[in-house]
Amino acid sequence: MDKIILVRYEEIFLKGLNKNVFENRLIRNIRQKLAGLGNIKVTKSQSRIYVESNDADFDFEEAVIILTKIFGIASVSPVIRIESDYEEIKEESVKIVGELLERKHYKTFKVEAKRGDKSFPMNSPQLCANVGGYILSKFPRLKVDVHNPDFIFYIEIRESTYLYSEIIPSVKGLPTGTGGLATLLLSGGIDSPVAGWMIAKRGVELEAVYFHSYPYTSDRAKDKVIKLAEYLSEYCMGIKLHVVPFTEIQTEINEKCPHEYLTIIMRRFMMKIAEKIAEKSGSLAIVTGEAIGQVASQTMESLLVTNSAVTLPVYRPLIGMDKNEVIEIARRIGTFDVSILPYEDCCTVFVAKHPVIKPSLQKTLEYEEVLDSENLIDRALSQTEIIKL
Ligand code: ATP
Ligand code: MG
Repeated sequence: MDKIILVRYEEIFLKGLNKNVFENRLIRNIRQKLAGLGNIKVTKSQSRIYVESNDADFDFEEAVIILTKIFGIASVSPVIRIESDYEEIKEESVKIVGELLERKHYKTFKVEAKRGDKSFPMNSPQLCANVGGYILSKFPRLKVDVHNPDFIFYIEIRESTYLYSEIIPSVKGLPTGTGGLATLLLSGGIDSPVAGWMIAKRGVELEAVYFHSYPYTSDRAKDKVIKLAEYLSEYCMGIKLHVVPFTEIQTEINEKCPHEYLTIIMRRFMMKIAEKIAEKSGSLAIVTGEAIGQVASQTMESLLVTNSAVTLPVYRPLIGMDKNEVIEIARRIGTFDVSILPYEDCCTVFVAKHPVIKPSLQKTLEYEEVLDSENLIDRALSQTEIIKL
């Protein structure tokens, strides 16, 4: 009898001839993420992945938690693997159900059996009936409910027999590292970590850029962004965070440009700097947490002006979402509690009373002419701090 974890994937099935590349990357990511838990063996068989360990004290529960945060994994099940022997199947099934009932107050169940190995002497309906009957005889307070059971007990007869009662959903998506690199503009707010997570979910590796306006924004604000990047890095196999000093640029804009255009010009500088960082690291896109109409700098007109600062594609996965929908995801992925800690945002350091809602690109370009943009950007880049998470 071996205790193992069964890992399932979904979208990778659609990858045709490239399927292997995705599976192998997923296996590599699983090995890397679980390495800290001890000796593990990760194998692929019949389009599933099995995780096992020889360590007597291997922490299966922790392993399951980690696996549910790995992109590309659809679901996981803690599983008992035994010989395909009917007597053993019966006894182990009762043991597993007994352990489950100690933790949960389940009243109804059903058995689902799959017989992949046709040499096994009982077919699937017979297995369900016989093992189900045996479980009922041992736990008289249980009842069978085939339509809406409290739990399903699964029996799979393959090259060995696999028994389990739990299917724990994971994050789905595609394995990190199969989709290239993107540069996320990461602030301390609710939106940008969610935007980054959504792009990372598609197998994309992330680097993050944070614009820090010290001393207007404090070290606490920076620590908060580091914490958010750490949360994201749990999902996407590590993140490089670029902390760009932004005070000089903001001060210059504030002194030399019309105030209603402060924010929009500042946003264009953010884009230009992010693009330079992206070019250097081979990143293929910029990612932001913008959504149409959320604030003055996110109207369609403002987004057009912001966008034209760069040629790299800008991905805005939250573009059509309401704030509450974003918050729901932020809670689910664990960034919400950090995002709502009080902090100063560089966007609020210098604010106009009446920011322009429909900026003109032509005017923006004119106003920017008074700035020594190239030097400002070069200086900010040369003083950028890189933190690996
Ligand atoms: P968020 O919740 O992500 O802070 P927001 O609703 O506050 O978003 P803005 O402040 O207008 O919106 O910023 C829009 C986007 O610009 C953010 O989602 C983020 O991608 C980027 N951004 C804003 N401020 C910064 C910053 N200081 N450093 C890096 N990126 C930033
Ligand atoms: Mg913000």
